[in-house]
Amino acid sequence: MWMAATTSLAGKVKTLVRAAGEGIADAAALLRAGQLVAFATETVYGLGADATQAAAVRRIYKVKRRPADNPLIVHVLNQRQAEDYAVGFDDVARILARRFWPGPLTMVVGRGEKIPAEVSAGLPTMAVRCPAHKAAQRLLAALGRPIAAPSANLSGHVSPTTAADVLAELEGRIPLILDGGPCRVGVESTVIDLTVDPPVVLRPGSVTVEMIHAALRRKLGTRVEAIGTTSMSGNAVAKSPGMSKRHYAPVTPTYRYLRGEWHQVRAWLNRYRPRARVVRLSCEKSGAVGGQEVLIHLSAKGEQCARHLYKNLRTADSRGYDLILVEMPPDRGHVWTAIRDRIRRASQEWPP
Ligand code: AMP
Ligand code: MG
Repeated sequence: MWMAATTSLAGKVKTLVRAAGEGIADAAALLRAGQLVAFATETVYGLGADATQAAAVRRIYKVKRRPADNPLIVHVLNQRQAEDYAVGFDDVARILARRFWPGPLTMVVGRGEKIPAEVSAGLPTMAVRCPAHKAAQRLLAALGRPIAAPSANLSGHVSPTTAADVLAELEGRIPLILDGGPCRVGVESTVIDLTVDPPVVLRPGSVTVEMIHAALRRKLGTRVEAIGTTSMSGNAVAKSPGMSKRHYAPVTPTYRYLRGEWHQVRAWLNRYRPRARVVRLSCEKSGAVGGQEVLIHLSAKGEQCARHLYKNLRTADSRGYDLILVEMPPDRGHVWTAIRDRIRRASQEWPP
């Protein structure tokens, strides 16, 4: 069984940050040579390798310190390239590709023989997505082959949504970051498994279950209602090992509480952690802010809340606070399902 190396890298490399518009040809040359390049996508920044080179793909796991059982997403230029490298790209996949590609929807289908097993952590399947960001599109076009890329952070950390975030995570470990500005979506792609019937959403994202239902209703009829989100169930964890519950997490101890619970949280802090420097993330504009406490406002608009969620978590994490407290927004479906999912993974339930 193939194993990813988890030891630290021997020599440091100099990491260049270049505007995506100017660095494409060099980035493609690095990828062709088996090196790694971080690049902007509309969801979060990716850490890319030529998906057809097993040694380059192994390097991703090493640089990220990613567990060997957590498969990568294969990025493609278009549907034609997806069909060329996958097997079993069926009618359902075609409908979803036509409706949501290029864009933040990843489909799990069969893995073709041109994609090495390392990409999928040994699974016979592969996750494939066509990104909409110009930088990603141009890089894929210049390389002429698919790019395997997980998020460009160290394993378990919050995903990067700017080139500066990537530099903070991976400086000295990769030669090049293609800066394409802040990511528009801000949370990782929706992942849907099409190798089971009915399909199942393994990770919620900005392409919502409601949108997928609408796209497939004509094809699947009432069976479409069976497509749900199971990212938090044990079943999905077994199916997709990277979906482990704790993920995307700040280093500072982070707790989530429910709307309306803040007064209890405050009383608990006063009693048990009176000296703790606390940062609170909440959709509510006002509310009691104690002496030692800082408030970061999360947007009450779903898309904006998602776009800035990781930036806000990184800010909260970077200022030396003792505790981060995040208010869980109410379950209003749509993109809130993804936001709640990421907050759950970033935090532990309060009270500890
Ligand atoms: P990341 O790009 O870091 O957000 O991680 C990609 C995620 O996609 C992984 O953590 C997996 O959960 C999921 N994924 C990738 N490939 C597969 C696959 N073949 N089957 C199921 N899930 C997958
Ligand atoms: Mg990731």
